Amino acid sequence: HASTSPAAADVSSRTPPYPKLLSKLSEVRHILDKRPLTLAEKILYSHLDRPAESLLTNTQNGASIRGQANLKLKPDRVAMQDASAQMALLQFMTCGLPTTAVPASIHCDHMIVGEKGADTDLPASIKGNKEVYDFLESAAKKYGIEFWPPGAGIIHQTVLENYSAPGLMMLGTDSHTPNAGGLGAIAIGVGGADAVDALVDAPWELKAPRILGVRLEGELSGWASPKDVILDLAGRLTVRGGTGFIIEYFGPGVETLSCTGMATICNMGAEVGATTSIFPFSSGHIPYLEATHRASIAAAAGTIASAPEARNLLRADSNAEYDQVITINLSELEPHINGPFTPDLSTPLSKFSNMVEVNSWPKTFGAGLIGSCTNSSYQDMTRAEDLVKQASAAGLKPKADFFISPGSEQIRATLERDSTLNTLSSAGGMVLANACGPCIGQWKRTDDVKKGDTNAIFTSYNRNFPARNDGNRATMNFLASPELVTALSYAGSTTFNPMTDTLSTPSGEPFRFSPPRGEELPSAGFAQGNPAFLPTTGKADPTVEVKIDPHSSRLAVLEPFAPFPHSELSGLRILYKVKGQCTTDTISAAGPWLKYKGHLPNISENTLIGAVNAATGETNTAYDVDGSSTTIPELAKRWKGQGREWVMVAEHNYGEGSAREHAALQPRYLGGRVILAKSFARIHETNLKKQGVVPLTFAKEADYDLLDACDEVSTEGLLDVLRSGGKGQVRLRVKKRDGKEVVVETKHTLSEDQCGFIMAGSALNLLARKASE
Ligand code: SF4
Repeated sequence: HASTSPAAADVSSRTPPYPKLLSKLSEVRHILDKRPLTLAEKILYSHLDRPAESLLTNTQNGASIRGQANLKLKPDRVAMQDASAQMALLQFMTCGLPTTAVPASIHCDHMIVGEKGADTDLPASIKGNKEVYDFLESAAKKYGIEFWPPGAGIIHQTVLENYSAPGLMMLGTDSHTPNAGGLGAIAIGVGGADAVDALVDAPWELKAPRILGVRLEGELSGWASPKDVILDLAGRLTVRGGTGFIIEYFGPGVETLSCTGMATICNMGAEVGATTSIFPFSSGHIPYLEATHRASIAAAAGTIASAPEARNLLRADSNAEYDQVITINLSELEPHINGPFTPDLSTPLSKFSNMVEVNSWPKTFGAGLIGSCTNSSYQDMTRAEDLVKQASAAGLKPKADFFISPGSEQIRATLERDSTLNTLSSAGGMVLANACGPCIGQWKRTDDVKKGDTNAIFTSYNRNFPARNDGNRATMNFLASPELVTALSYAGSTTFNPMTDTLSTPSGEPFRFSPPRGEELPSAGFAQGNPAFLPTTGKADPTVEVKIDPHSSRLAVLEPFAPFPHSELSGLRILYKVKGQCTTDTISAAGPWLKYKGHLPNISENTLIGAVNAATGETNTAYDVDGSSTTIPELAKRWKGQGREWVMVAEHNYGEGSAREHAALQPRYLGGRVILAKSFARIHETNLKKQGVVPLTFAKEADYDLLDACDEVSTEGLLDVLRSGGKGQVRLRVKKRDGKEVVVETKHTLSEDQCGFIMAGSALNLLARKASE
């Protein structure tokens, strides 16, 4: 494919629109009466579509914005990974726009297997996923999106090397998008439908986050690494502690960290549920931007960051207030090991062997895996290399299998040129493709661990839910820095502490590692690597035809949903009454279904298969009016075939979990019109409205008990609500099977815009209509 060298790439398209942001900042300062702002607030609010509207409405004239205001934002850029890009692009295509409204990129990283090494695994994965890659590449060329082919690297590493910049605001269709915050950007992980908002220039909505300040003091030394900052913080905050917050780092310790180290810290903010994480522009950013061919951005950011406070977009105001502050002294920080099975079970290295004893965790482990989007910087890898050199000089070989996943072709080629990879592979390490591989379950283990066998592994990755790496729920996955994983791999023992313990050399001598030393950046600069892995130009070409095989089982063109009828809804039927929790996983399961993400009819076969029937306690067992039982998706399809739309009844927090838009798309595709619940998870409720489904809540929760599957439902007042932009309430007239009638009063949260989505059939229908007017 036509490609550009990053060096020659148009840096201007990668420079945040600083003049515009600075003028928005002064508008925001005026609206907020010069109130001191945190860094995250400055960058976020400078991306508001209409600052006064977002900051003054519903917030008592700006008094309590955080946690309350609905921000309508205009991000600068979008990045998508190959699994989630499929539905995002299929949705974008329904709008009929010739190009994306903001620069965007696609990264092919999630579908590449790790098994025998990059040279074998990459071609096999390209063959297996060809139709998806062809679709993504053709769509990218048509709409002017930079396409990074399989082998180019992992989305977050590539974004850091090319697109992230101080003051930028970016959406990414992946939970670890906040990695870019290490270079001073506000980067938020979203679902595909949200990314489409940015791609079509519609404002993207976010409840204004609270700000958690983390003050860093001192300086890392010895075995402690940036990874340990976030492993320690995860232990303190737990997996829910960051929810609704942006984590903003500040304090003198910031200036001691490398840019890539800061990215590692921001990457794993996702593990505590934070909206995103961010570092201020600092001395580590300048050499990194220069080394990645963006000296002009370093200079522009440097000027802004040294401006007086009133015009300083890239640092927090000196008296900015945080909702909560945690202090970490880097000089006292110990290496940590987190896990198994959850990233917030955090143990300092010195206490880990005791934890192994107390919990009867395995004393040996089979594999150490380093790299990934979290930890494959030059600094990480040269520190690991230093340990390998020490061990090799003593005649030692790793006892555990040792795998290396470089984050990008640029870092891989640089490490190859500088002999780092040779050192690692000569010691027995296997270099996998520049891709997610074992981090996302694409690891075909060739050792003799069977499914269900309890065993341990150590990784320098970020997630460790059961089955995350090898599909085996009994594999205990411990997270640590790459240097610790490397040293432990030589011991093959979970109780080994490289800071204090010795290993025995082949001649019987005791050997102790010296603390690892590495280089922050390559002294000879970064190597470009294989030119076949460079991205496409990002120039739209309307003559390109998007490749979707009509017989494909993995991709299907998305047909626009029908608009709302010019009448109330009548003849709806209750498909299912769900008991208890109903997450986005319940509504649209992941695992093997992921391969159908681009094929709405096929993935809809998993709709609600985890939902518990309130009447019978059965899972995924629905009853038709004649009493016959079947699965939920089967019954929905049957009714769709009969032209009958349906209602779902559910309990609290319907749709909690991820931002997965399939959980809204699938019920809509199968004929779902109304979801009536005791309450909704906020993001999912918005997603439903975007797809044209009406979410209603019970005015009286006890009315849940009045309803049963197969009851017939008609709406009263809904058409008026939609036509008036959200004014008034909706009642449901319900005809029971025995002929009796009940009336259920409901509440809704439909805004004027959202009424427009539902009337048009979906948010994208509305956009398409506006675009063609
Ligand atoms: Fe996600 Fe792992 Fe890939 Fe990073 S390496 S993007 S965490 S799957």
